[in-house]
Amino acid sequence: FREVRLILGDQLNAKHSWFNRNDNVLYVMFEMQQETNYVRHHKQKVLAFFAAMRAFSKALATRADVLYLQLDGGENLQSLTENLNVIFEHCKPKKFSYQEPDEYRLMQQLETLTLPDTFAIECCSTEHFLISRQAVDDYLPANKAPLMETFYRRVRKETGYLMAGDKPTGGKWNYDHDNRNKLPDKVSVPKPLHFANDATDIATMLDAAKIKTMGSATPKQLDWPISRQQSLQLLEAFMHERLPYFGQYQDAMSRRCYLLFHSRLSFSLNTKMISPKEVVEAALSAYEENPTLISLAQVEGFIRQIIGWREFVRLIYWREMPSYKTLNHFEHENPLPEFYWNADTKMNCVQHAVSQSLETAYAHHIQRLMITGNFGLLAGVHPDAMDDWYLGIYIDAIEWVELPNTRGMSQFADGGLLATKPYISSGNYINKMSSYCKDCYYKVSAKTGPRSCPFNSLYWHFLDKHKGKLANNPRMGMMYRQWEKQDTAAQEAILAQAKHYLANIDSL
Ligand code: FAD
Ligand code: SF4
Repeated sequence: FREVRLILGDQLNAKHSWFNRNDNVLYVMFEMQQETNYVRHHKQKVLAFFAAMRAFSKALATRADVLYLQLDGGENLQSLTENLNVIFEHCKPKKFSYQEPDEYRLMQQLETLTLPDTFAIECCSTEHFLISRQAVDDYLPANKAPLMETFYRRVRKETGYLMAGDKPTGGKWNYDHDNRNKLPDKVSVPKPLHFANDATDIATMLDAAKIKTMGSATPKQLDWPISRQQSLQLLEAFMHERLPYFGQYQDAMSRRCYLLFHSRLSFSLNTKMISPKEVVEAALSAYEENPTLISLAQVEGFIRQIIGWREFVRLIYWREMPSYKTLNHFEHENPLPEFYWNADTKMNCVQHAVSQSLETAYAHHIQRLMITGNFGLLAGVHPDAMDDWYLGIYIDAIEWVELPNTRGMSQFADGGLLATKPYISSGNYINKMSSYCKDCYYKVSAKTGPRSCPFNSLYWHFLDKHKGKLANNPRMGMMYRQWEKQDTAAQEAILAQAKHYLANIDSL
């Protein structure tokens, strides 16, 4: 073969221009322990990645030469660079090509490959994202605080999505304020589309290799899309059943359905089985075809997640790595409470978010941000421990998107680079947005006492403890004024309650 082309597990983009010309090219794909073991992953995540990779390689093999190394293949050295070196030695190609890895770790590995001078190396775009990584200095210059809203508006203008000339369609850029409703009992939630992919062979292989995972799985009926075709089915179902309510109930939490009106498209997007462009354009077409069913606020809310947040956090990652991974603004040191691994807690909201995550490898944004993330921050958990948990448990967790969301948005460990204030709340917010509190062991209205909601005292304790770092933040002023309004005895009782909870965190 003249050229070896590497396809990583999250580069399953069948539309890539690479595939227009396959002669004298060997495509290589590897299942590797370096990937299954760099963190403890959810079992469904490993199954879904390998199943999607296998389906992709099988389809590609009908029109090109593919070398696919299974995890249990005798010749598999379980390391990216070692596998590549053996292949280079064997095939003696003239050229090695790879698509830009989205993870810093993998980029470093590929950049440190030692190859003969005669060997041409080409790193090309994944042809997936809207904004190229090389444009990071232009979009988020180092001397300016990055602002998602500014970035988002620029991408709207450049793409023309939801634009009427140079003005936003409907006159407003952002309909977030219309989008924060609790889920009323009378609103019914459609059943999520179910996939039943058979991944039993992969599960048997993982067991034999003693790969440590977390969470539960039904390998015979793996409920994640593992091909472009299934990803498009999920997209289609979302447009009809969920997009009409997406924005309105985007922040709601309920035990009635784990998905509510979210899309569950993150795995398909992050593996690149589908592209952000086609997701956004499908949403725009659905809106244009039926504006009475899908309002502007719904479609704008959805599009903002894809062309705004998703592209923005990726540029933040590349702008700030590798130091971003070590930031710990509040100098938090506590370990992750045991109930993050087994959901064994009397706090209904945490119990539900964690058990659902262990069962499905999925939680929607507000569960991640305002339940598990919020609690971890209030409890002073070390951001490394938070990162490892988020990186492992969610089906869509790949470092470029997990890290800015966890360390930045949810833990404020970057001191406010990504979020303008910490996303913390007392039980009050959780009660407002969910149905968790009404049958919880703890009383959401109580700040002190044996059954007081832990979020309440921990919230004030956090604010009190980090006053030096937060009191001057203009967005925190109201919270500090509320705290200062309370008399000293009340403040002391709340702080004592919080300290008691922190000392007994595993029994909450
Ligand atoms: P929807 O609610 O239907 O949103 C549509 C799409 O928008 C998503 O599929 C996703 O691609 C994109 N999106 C929405 N919010 C964000 C965001 N904040 N950042 C980037 N993209 C976004 N997302 C991941 O893809 N991988 C992660 O590892 C990840 N870790 C997170 C950790 C924490 C602590 C938090 C608070 C959020 C995290 N997110 C992560 C963002 C978000 O929670 C998920 O993208 C979303 O829940 C996926 O479900 P969905 O596809 O149903 O999303
Ligand atoms: Fe969570 Fe507190 Fe509500 Fe219980 S009362 S569900 S712990 S917010």
